Amino acid sequence: MNNFFSTGQSSNNNNSDNSLNSQFNNMKDNYETIFIEAAESIRREVNQFKPENPCAKCSVKDCKIEKKDVFTPYPPNCEYRDWQLKILTFLSGDYRQKLKTIYKNMMDKKNNYSCSKCAACCKLATSEYSYNQLKQRAMRDDKFSEDFVSVFVPYETEEEAKKANPEYFKLLNELVEDEKIYYYYCPKLKDNLCSDYENRPDICKDFPHNPLKLLPSTCSFNEWKNEIAHDAMLLKAKVDIIDFYKEKLQ
Ligand code: SF4
Ligand code: SF4
Repeated sequence: MNNFFSTGQSSNNNNSDNSLNSQFNNMKDNYETIFIEAAESIRREVNQFKPENPCAKCSVKDCKIEKKDVFTPYPPNCEYRDWQLKILTFLSGDYRQKLKTIYKNMMDKKNNYSCSKCAACCKLATSEYSYNQLKQRAMRDDKFSEDFVSVFVPYETEEEAKKANPEYFKLLNELVEDEKIYYYYCPKLKDNLCSDYENRPDICKDFPHNPLKLLPSTCSFNEWKNEIAHDAMLLKAKVDIIDFYKEKLQ
């Protein structure tokens, strides 16, 4: 359930830990450039609403505002404040809708790939929530948690989880060293096959649910992740930047 940045791993990669790490680091490095790309794109979008020299016709005589940028605090009767309010409406409305469409298109591309039934996702699932927390969330109608606890149970020890997928376990621990991770497995897996395939919940059918999730190196959906990696990070950066705009312009 955790979200991670990862390039994913193509099927012809070697599965060494270092290979996963090096791809993860590449993604982190790329994120900075992509973040700048996202910021520039949003800047262009919001500037289309910027008024042209409203100060020329403004009646306020003692205005001390020199730098008229988007995050400057403006008085309520100022046209630049109207600009900020238009930006807020745009980012929460049309622009948000545009990003949702991009996300949907990205997820739709997953349909071009199929599960190779390696069973890695059944043997080792992770969450930032304990089993009890997940059950409580499920009782509060959190569909994901509901599905999760309907199939997964916690490993008794971290050692057991490590044995299930040592490479994945090690990498997860390195990446989220400051956070507690809980490890789970599905007891319905028998001889590496799902014993209740027809009734498996959406959480299994839809895996992977997040384009930024770190996947086991054996997962065939890494090819999908590689295909959409740039778009997924760009989208993530835009969502983060929009949140920043909203906080500053409220
Ligand atoms: S229900 Fe089947 S597909 Fe889902 S995690 Fe369990 S074994 Fe895997
Ligand atoms: S890890 Fe990926 S390829 Fe393996 S069973 Fe799960 S979804 Fe299928």
